[in-house]
Amino acid sequence: MASTPPESIAPLWRRACEAAIAFRHDVPHRAAAPQDDYAASLAGFEADLPEAGSDPSDVLGDLVRLADPGLMTPTGPRFFGWVIGGSHPAGVAADWLTSAWGQNAGNHEASPAASAAETVASRWLLELLDLPREASIGFVTGATMANFTGLAAARSAVLDDVGWDVERDGLFGAPPITVLIGEEAHATAYAALQLLGLGRERVVTLPVDDQGRIVVSSALEAIAALHRPAVVVLQAGQLNTGGFDDFATLVPAAKAAGAWVHVDGAFGLWSRISPRTRALTEGVDGADSWAVDGHKWLQTPYDCGYVVVRDDALHQRAMTIAASYLPVSETGERDPSHYVPELSRRARGFATWTMVRTLGREGIVTLVDRHCALARLVADLLRGQPGIEVLNDVVLNQVLVRFGSDADDDEGDRRTRETIARVRADGVCFVGGTSWRGREAMRFSVIGFETDENEARRSAEAVVTAYRAVTASP
Ligand SMILES: *Cc1c(COP(=O)(O)O)cnc(C)c1O
Repeated sequence: MASTPPESIAPLWRRACEAAIAFRHDVPHRAAAPQDDYAASLAGFEADLPEAGSDPSDVLGDLVRLADPGLMTPTGPRFFGWVIGGSHPAGVAADWLTSAWGQNAGNHEASPAASAAETVASRWLLELLDLPREASIGFVTGATMANFTGLAAARSAVLDDVGWDVERDGLFGAPPITVLIGEEAHATAYAALQLLGLGRERVVTLPVDDQGRIVVSSALEAIAALHRPAVVVLQAGQLNTGGFDDFATLVPAAKAAGAWVHVDGAFGLWSRISPRTRALTEGVDGADSWAVDGHKWLQTPYDCGYVVVRDDALHQRAMTIAASYLPVSETGERDPSHYVPELSRRARGFATWTMVRTLGREGIVTLVDRHCALARLVADLLRGQPGIEVLNDVVLNQVLVRFGSDADDDEGDRRTRETIARVRADGVCFVGGTSWRGREAMRFSVIGFETDENEARRSAEAVVTAYRAVTASP
């Protein structure tokens, strides 16, 4: 095939760029919920398998037209549905280049620049999050794979301690690992255990309090009874409440019992960067591994997460892919694939490097502080309304809300479900739904960089209006 002449790249890429700009300009003015649901989107995309190719410009035009009505608005200022970051324009620009450059971030020979950007971004992340400076970082798709990778290192290390090489010999016949984990840990921490052969249900689940935090006395009892090999999974930022486990007490106790401590801090670990919220993670730096996302508070585009492991050698031991055709660094060059499950992957270090430089430490602190302040504001605005109850202590950016607090439980569930549906249909803002302690609740997560006080007030008003409409209709 002939090489693509530059004059045919330019119009295609300009068109993609124009479409992207048009979308981002439009987002603040759109209904916050997608116009099309899944079925409608599918009806648009559905077509017979193309046997013949098409002009890429026509394909791109169709893609934009078909996707548009089914696009969600996390990049807009009134999206509070999940903890989904806003894909900052600077990170997106870096991500475009990452794709256009077509770098394979597997090793330092395949892309010296991609490896180098990760090396520097790693150092910056450790400083920002104030984690052990000797720790190593793997650039993964998100906190799910960060939990997986951190727990893989845990599995490897605790078995090695009792004389078992899990990389070589697998899990069959291995000494059983005891895993302690909170009842309200994120589903992806459980998923990581499931993938690693540690089982989702053979773990010891620790009871939690009304904020989803592990009950310290129960945890200490369980830790006192621990036998090695053991892993303890803690959490910084519960997805419904934003609650934090008591690291200052639990980390040293678990370490003294010979356990590996892994912390899921997908968004919550970023609270460490601000003096106003830093106390929430006191003692977290004593753990052995941490999961944190770039595509949440740091606002990199999807997908981008980080696994941090205190002991670089243990991290690499669990992840290294050895093959004769892969280069081996003898002079300290970073081979990104030694820290993640994949070999070939996109160069996530570029977007991370770009976002940290664009925001700077001060910019990230401002973002975290603002989101936490806006969550408190929204909680105050809602709490003041009859029939509306805020269920959590708003320590971070999460507000958990229940409607119909003056009615019985089932009626409260109905009003909560209907209020969420109504808010979404009204289109001013997008909120999440969840179940908390057996009852329905609304989640309001302040996480997008576009959200400011006006947008938060306007959104809280939309929630109140929707609730009034629900109570007015039988
Ligand atoms: C979002 C989240 C995850 C999962 O992260 P992904 O980036 O979606 O893979 C895990 N744990 C917590 C606490 C989260 O908030």
